[in-house]
Amino acid sequence: MRQSKLFTKTRREAPKDEVSKNAILLTRAGFINKERAGVYDYLPLGLRVIKKLEDIVREEMNALGGQEFLMSSLQRQELWEKHFNQDRWNDKNVDIWFKTRLKDGSELGLAFTHEEPISNMLEQFVSSYNDLPFSVYQFQTKFRNELRAQSGILRGREFLMKDLYSFSRTPEEHDDFYERAKSAYRNIFNKVGIGDSTYLTKASGGSFSEFSHEFQTLSLAGEDTIYITDENKKEAENKEIGVKDLEEKKAIEVGNIFTLGTKFSDPHLKFKDKDGKERNVFMGSYGIGLGRLMGTIVEVLSDDKGIVWPHEVSPFDVHLLSLTDGSKVFADEVYKTLTSQSFEVLYDDRDLRAGEKFADADLIGIPKRIVVGDKTLESKMLEIKDRATGETSEMALEDFIKSISL
Ligand code: ATP
Ligand code: MG
Repeated sequence: MRQSKLFTKTRREAPKDEVSKNAILLTRAGFINKERAGVYDYLPLGLRVIKKLEDIVREEMNALGGQEFLMSSLQRQELWEKHFNQDRWNDKNVDIWFKTRLKDGSELGLAFTHEEPISNMLEQFVSSYNDLPFSVYQFQTKFRNELRAQSGILRGREFLMKDLYSFSRTPEEHDDFYERAKSAYRNIFNKVGIGDSTYLTKASGGSFSEFSHEFQTLSLAGEDTIYITDENKKEAENKEIGVKDLEEKKAIEVGNIFTLGTKFSDPHLKFKDKDGKERNVFMGSYGIGLGRLMGTIVEVLSDDKGIVWPHEVSPFDVHLLSLTDGSKVFADEVYKTLTSQSFEVLYDDRDLRAGEKFADADLIGIPKRIVVGDKTLESKMLEIKDRATGETSEMALEDFIKSISL
């Protein structure tokens, strides 16, 4: 994409009331726009990152055998009130509901999670042990009336979540899936560049089970406190479950996995086992917030000049900068060659001083930068800069293509 055509512009300052690093950098670089606290728009650059994250997460969920679907955000009151053996509609502990009314006066809730509607929907499809096990997942907008929304896109009042639900016949069958889900989550966090600072963290199971597991990424921007219990295995415990004589670390919960048991299947979601006996389906739920994941990457990997995207989630593979009028023809050629080979290129073809282009490129954070200036015209050697290390090198275009195709 030609940067001269990109409707967003970088800016020197973020909104005055913005305090979190992720939102300041992402706003300045033109990835997001703030509507109000906890409510953000994703602009073209930001949406590209979200789509990359979505692809990475989808690949892992598909590898688990998850079937992708999409449920509505408009949820029925009665499912939450009395369908299952609990009432999360009137529960005082659930203080994040956005509720609204239809014209006929009946109430409905904007989805903050989907256990109740999914369990209800599956009653028509599950009846025998032959129908199990399976899992379903979606990328879906959740609404939460969060009390404090000061952490940029780490805590949205509207946000995209990948939520997966598993349905098993026995606790043992569930445990097997749960362990595989742990590995899938580990793969995701490794792939998006935060594996080294992300810990599998034992946490409270809430009202569902004794423990759940969170994936916590070390960061001062985090709202959780954890104790690292095994550095090599990247394991930790949330402070909420014990007080340990260990150093406290701040961390961001980037994902979590829950054993739900029969909380949401009892009494309606049942199957007949081999002996013809009726049993409740054994469930688990597995969440990742895509905006929170994107914000965490920015918190962990940025430097004083801007964002430093890992290649896998960067909005573009390459940032191509042409510095002078004279070098534009050659830069155009480089752009054509790269895009014809399916590389995603942001091409800074704007009439701006070199210094401004460099500063913008550092802020936007695409991992590889190609600089084309008058010098390049004679030697045909491109100047390549690595955003993460700051290292520069000179390469012919074919060699550069080989180096990023590996
Ligand atoms: P927190 O304790 O941070 O509020 P939670 O325990 O409410 O999170 P879940 O309800 O289990 O989180 O949601 C699953 C995942 O969705 C979380 O692990 C996180 O990645 C993401 N998430 C939760 N709340 C938000 C939010 N307000 N904005 C963005 N992502 C969120
Ligand atoms: Mg919450």
